[in-house]
Amino acid sequence: MRIDILTLFPGMFDGPLTESILQRAREQNLLSVHFHDLRNFGLGKYRQVDDTPYGGGAGMLMRADAVVPAIEHVMTLAEGQPHRIYLSARGERLVQPKVEQLAQDHEWLLLLCGHYEGIDQRIIDGGWIDEEIRIGDYVLTGGELPAMVLIDAIARHIPGVLGKEESAHEESFSAALDRKQEYPHYTRPEEFRGHRVPDVLLSGHHAEIEKWRKKNTR
Ligand code: SAM
Repeated sequence: MRIDILTLFPGMFDGPLTESILQRAREQNLLSVHFHDLRNFGLGKYRQVDDTPYGGGAGMLMRADAVVPAIEHVMTLAEGQPHRIYLSARGERLVQPKVEQLAQDHEWLLLLCGHYEGIDQRIIDGGWIDEEIRIGDYVLTGGELPAMVLIDAIARHIPGVLGKEESAHEESFSAALDRKQEYPHYTRPEEFRGHRVPDVLLSGHHAEIEKWRKKNTR
């Protein structure tokens, strides 16, 4: 999968995308991530990307005449059309079936990270954004953390990204668990400071273990 990110702060993505499973996915070319600094599309000598809102009020808005050329530029960079997502507190709430659908239906995503008060509504209404997604019912300072959450959640569903021992098959919110939350896990030692592993998990009775796990899925 290819993901292009439009952001004012590309440096924020260091770490989440350069460590562990996502870094491995990038090295294996299962995931290619491209950053585009919105400042490069800013206007005038100071490369201005934001301005005050019409009608008054606090904060600044990202300008359509800076953001839309950036989106259009990204759209020329590969074959076909990216699915264009604006990370927005006003968007549809991200849930696991949506993550799976995005991973399955799209080879190429464009993620627009807002900042300040958000973006000029005409960027959405004019057809330059395909959908708005929020990662939860709270407001963050920018779309960068939500974009990282979305990338991480989607990457887990790209074939080959997770090793066998990291399978996404039977996890919280998966179809295999009826979209419920997973049962608890235990590892060695059998007893830790007076807390024992449930006997059934040590019994070797697979049917009983399955029953226990089902009962403890919620
Ligand atoms: N004025 C906006 C509102 O009340 O909905 C909030 C703007 S927020 C301070 C700045 C940017 O952070 C947004 O443009 C969006 O890109 C991002 N953002 C904030 N909360 C988010 C969330 N829950 N999910 C996705 N993106 C979010």
